[in-house]
Amino acid sequence: MRIEFAHPLCFNLIMDSTFKNPHPLLLGGRWKETAQTAEVINPFSGEAVAKVCQAGAADLEEAIAQAGKSRPVLAALASYKRAEILERVSEGIYARREELARAVTSENGKPLVESRAEAERASLTFRIASEEAVRIGGEFIPLDRNRASEGRWGITRRFPAGPVLGITPFNFPLNLVAHKIAPAVAAGNPIILKPASKTPISALLLGGVMMESGLPEGCLSVLPASAKTIGPAVTDARIKVLSFTGSAAVGWGLKKLAFDKKVILELGGNAGVLLDEDCDLKYAAGRAVAGAFSYAGQVCISVQRIYAHRRIYDAFLELFVPKVKALKMGDPMDETVQIGPMIDEDNLERVASWVDEALAAGAKLVAGGKRSGRFYEPTVIVDATPQMKLSCMEVFAPVVTVTPVESFDEGIRAINDSVYGLQAGVFTGSLKRAFQAFEAIEAGGVIINDVPTYRVDHMPYGGVKQSGSGREGIRYAVEEMTEPRLMALNLI
Ligand code: NAP
Repeated sequence: MRIEFAHPLCFNLIMDSTFKNPHPLLLGGRWKETAQTAEVINPFSGEAVAKVCQAGAADLEEAIAQAGKSRPVLAALASYKRAEILERVSEGIYARREELARAVTSENGKPLVESRAEAERASLTFRIASEEAVRIGGEFIPLDRNRASEGRWGITRRFPAGPVLGITPFNFPLNLVAHKIAPAVAAGNPIILKPASKTPISALLLGGVMMESGLPEGCLSVLPASAKTIGPAVTDARIKVLSFTGSAAVGWGLKKLAFDKKVILELGGNAGVLLDEDCDLKYAAGRAVAGAFSYAGQVCISVQRIYAHRRIYDAFLELFVPKVKALKMGDPMDETVQIGPMIDEDNLERVASWVDEALAAGAKLVAGGKRSGRFYEPTVIVDATPQMKLSCMEVFAPVVTVTPVESFDEGIRAINDSVYGLQAGVFTGSLKRAFQAFEAIEAGGVIINDVPTYRVDHMPYGGVKQSGSGREGIRYAVEEMTEPRLMALNLI
């Protein structure tokens, strides 16, 4: 496996001369410098690419107070004005998409081609939010269900729930931040956003775009901070919604603390793919490579377990494995590179130990299987058992298992044999079996004739079981971030 270092200096050139270093945080719509700073480390080079001001307890208190103050202002803003703000942000992201993409690659090591796609998606996410902002409707309900209710009518309308606390992970540091801020503003809620400590740069750059959008003051804070510093906001009564994307362990723990708030949890998974005996194998093999190895598998809906019907199992491996071996690892700023570094040493060590453990217990390697500096090779494992960590836990690395199944039903049972249920992929030529999978698979989304990694930003997105609760996808996030209120009319 080749590792190429094509542009050794690119990671130092992500931001133009207007990027302040240390970069201030955004507090209620104003930049603020703080004494405490933290370095952002490029996972490819291991070098610091920027310093970012950190929020302290007083900054958090100020952000919550500002959110409370601006709550009625944003709630009263006409929907077309919220839509205009969101559309301006969408355009602003699009205009600065290359800078944003380079920031993503510099802070999390994602191949530049994928970071560009993320920047374009973030622009789309805000455009969708702009459209949804003017569509938040309600119901007109006849209440004359019994004699006592004759002449009565119900009207429901959705009202903004109140200030949102958004917490986001490192792997999509721009578009997942967009999936917190955009629906919050569409719904009429101020938001405090805590980006992952490893990846605050693109969130702050997005904050800069938001500041040029006409958003009323006080409505947005982007606070790089430790989990400990942000902790009090999780339980603060002035915060009405917690929208968390990250690991299951952290997410479910936070839900316990925020028991009296609306809580949206977008968590991890170990997504499965089922290959039916009549599927288009060549197409499935190509999609499985993309689904398992995009961003080195550090994607919540990354393909982790492939179940292939026994009759096509060998043929699938023959198509799949050479494609995996041909993937190019190297400098993620190089446009031809497909596999960048893992996010950090801890995760490298974890995946290496899980693969070693599986091999020691009888699994076999058909591609990859080694770490190489900050990289883990794209790895394909066969003969894995359901008890191995590679099968039953979230790998979050470029490692996939391929297992034969005797029937479509057995494949569905294997996919469901998981504590997670985010999305699943099913490749089949049969419409009947597509519907069978849709009915039987316990997941938030069943993707027919594509990998579970498929997502477009307006579709309902979220998991069941340990993978989370609630849905994102703008319209659905807006529902989570609003409360329906009933007016019962007595027409006397
Ligand atoms: P993580 O360790 O759970 O961290 C996510 C965020 O939570 C970070 O901002 C982190 O802050 C913060 N955090 C951690 N502990 C906290 C606490 N006690 N109180 C408040 N905030 C806390 O996850 P990650 O490693 O960044 O991301 C990978 C995980 O995210 C994977 O499990 C992946 O599947 C999941 N994910 C899910 C989705 C989805 O939509 N379902 C999408 C992407 C990723 P620090 O950075 O400061 O620690």
